[in-house]
Amino acid sequence: MIRDDQSSHSTSPLLEIRGLNLDFGTPGGRVHALRNVSLNVPAGQVVGIVGESGSGKSTLAYTVMGLLPENADVTAGNILFEGRDLLKMPAQSRRSLLGDRLSMIFQDPMTALNPVRTIENQMIDIQHHERRSRSEKRARAIDMLHRVGIPDPQTRIGAYPHHFSGGMRQRICIAMALLVRPALLIADEPTTALDATLEVQIIHLLKDLQREIGCSVLFVSHHLGAVAELCDRVVVMYAGEKVEQGAVRDIFHNPAHPYTRALLECDPGRIRKTTRTLPTISGEVPSPLGFKKGCIFSERCPQAFDRCVQETPIEYPIGLEQTARCHLLDEERLVSA
Ligand code: SF4
Repeated sequence: MIRDDQSSHSTSPLLEIRGLNLDFGTPGGRVHALRNVSLNVPAGQVVGIVGESGSGKSTLAYTVMGLLPENADVTAGNILFEGRDLLKMPAQSRRSLLGDRLSMIFQDPMTALNPVRTIENQMIDIQHHERRSRSEKRARAIDMLHRVGIPDPQTRIGAYPHHFSGGMRQRICIAMALLVRPALLIADEPTTALDATLEVQIIHLLKDLQREIGCSVLFVSHHLGAVAELCDRVVVMYAGEKVEQGAVRDIFHNPAHPYTRALLECDPGRIRKTTRTLPTISGEVPSPLGFKKGCIFSERCPQAFDRCVQETPIEYPIGLEQTARCHLLDEERLVSA
């Protein structure tokens, strides 16, 4: 179900990514993981990033958090958060934002949880920016565990991560990420490891807490149903590039880019006929090594024409908020067609 309370009011972006290029140095050459990516996350809104594996969506999330491996190299662009460029910030200042103004939920909860420390100690530690007593911090932690649905939180707070199921661990991670009341929460495929029932519960939980806290969320997912349920806006990425963006209703009901249309056609949640084989997008995501001329999707696009392999498409506006990078949207071509 698509959220019907889309806020179209224009607010200044909390996060503004401009012209971001990121490479990884590898023995086989430079891997261009992100190319000229620009997007905004307005205050109080949920922005989804969707795309297949290798689209760069998780790399983008980790770049904002500053959690990249040593071989990563940002070659161009800015990441403005609350008006300050994270890429130009001293390392110490940037680190101090993590777990305070910026928080993250990972795909695997064990990435975020320390297996040899109790949930209590970890939830108290995460509040190190707060000037409160330990008992106050403990009470806040118990309250948050209760709100994310951990039964008997008074007792269970003393347990270790391995005492909880995968779904419960992800709830604990959400509790920890939101306990600090961040301005921006980045969630990287937070429901991928969970079954469908748990996924629905976690999405509803995230939605309720986001509304209550009023934070912005950058929600990375390959699950279009979850994005439709949770997000206000969607950015579609392919092979390290942003190919389309818009309000969730426009992207799901009026996709303009052939790749977005193909993604939607392959979504199991939208298939109406009984079938034994799920549709897929034929072909493969192109290698991120080297420079590509023309449209990044041209090798797989059923509507590709001569210009697509010669010229990189610019971003064309469609209506007020939607844009897509596809030559089919060039007005001159539309007029002469
Ligand atoms: Fe397809 Fe051409 Fe549009 Fe690229 S520019 S998506 S190849 S029609």
